Amino acid sequence: MTPAPRRDSAPVETEVREKIHLEILKRTGAYHANDHVLLPSGHHTTEYIEKTLVTTEPSFTEGLGAVIAKHFAQWPVDAVLSTGPGALILSHCVARAHPSRPVVVYGSKGTAGGKRRVTLPVEFQRLIRPGSKVLLVEDLVSSGTTLNLLINLVEQLGAEVVGAGCLWRRTSVELEGKPVFSLVSRDFPTYSPDECPLCRKGVPLNEEFVRRRAGRKPSSVQERAGS
Ligand SMILES: [Zn+2]
Repeated sequence: MTPAPRRDSAPVETEVREKIHLEILKRTGAYHANDHVLLPSGHHTTEYIEKTLVTTEPSFTEGLGAVIAKHFAQWPVDAVLSTGPGALILSHCVARAHPSRPVVVYGSKGTAGGKRRVTLPVEFQRLIRPGSKVLLVEDLVSSGTTLNLLINLVEQLGAEVVGAGCLWRRTSVELEGKPVFSLVSRDFPTYSPDECPLCRKGVPLNEEFVRRRAGRKPSSVQERAGS
């Protein structure tokens, strides 16, 4: 048998790469580790990620987008498809760095009858045609529902999903046999308060994120009446 050194070093490389990406996310202020955090669900965890902050540093986002583009560089891509503001910024960076120079399109997320759905604006439908190769991009993937809906949407238009790239995959999501590439694949363990090992150790609970959500209102301005 011939030795396969590349295969042996692959897990180490993945681990190192993931550490670098976590460090980048930490510097944006989006990722908090080694903490004891109260989640909105009432559960406790050691790690927390604030989705809104993930793509606030353009040079970081560009760098991370380039890594995803490089992973999919061997496949021709006609369009990069995403949803949501964070994913859209990242998908721009992926498309910009991909050698096929794909276009960027986005669907909008909503619910209908309590079920989640994604919708592609009419104007974009001529950019995803029968036979088009589509790369999906998301920032954070937790259940995989949005990505699976995007796959259905692309296939409904007669196009083909090449794969999906994301910054963070929270669980081992299955995507109807499509390859998923994530810069970080990590699940944070969550505990109910009565079985939390950190509570047992007496580590103070950080309620900042839940309080911030509940107490702080977003800044807004409104057009004056009659002006
Ligand atoms: Zn706890």
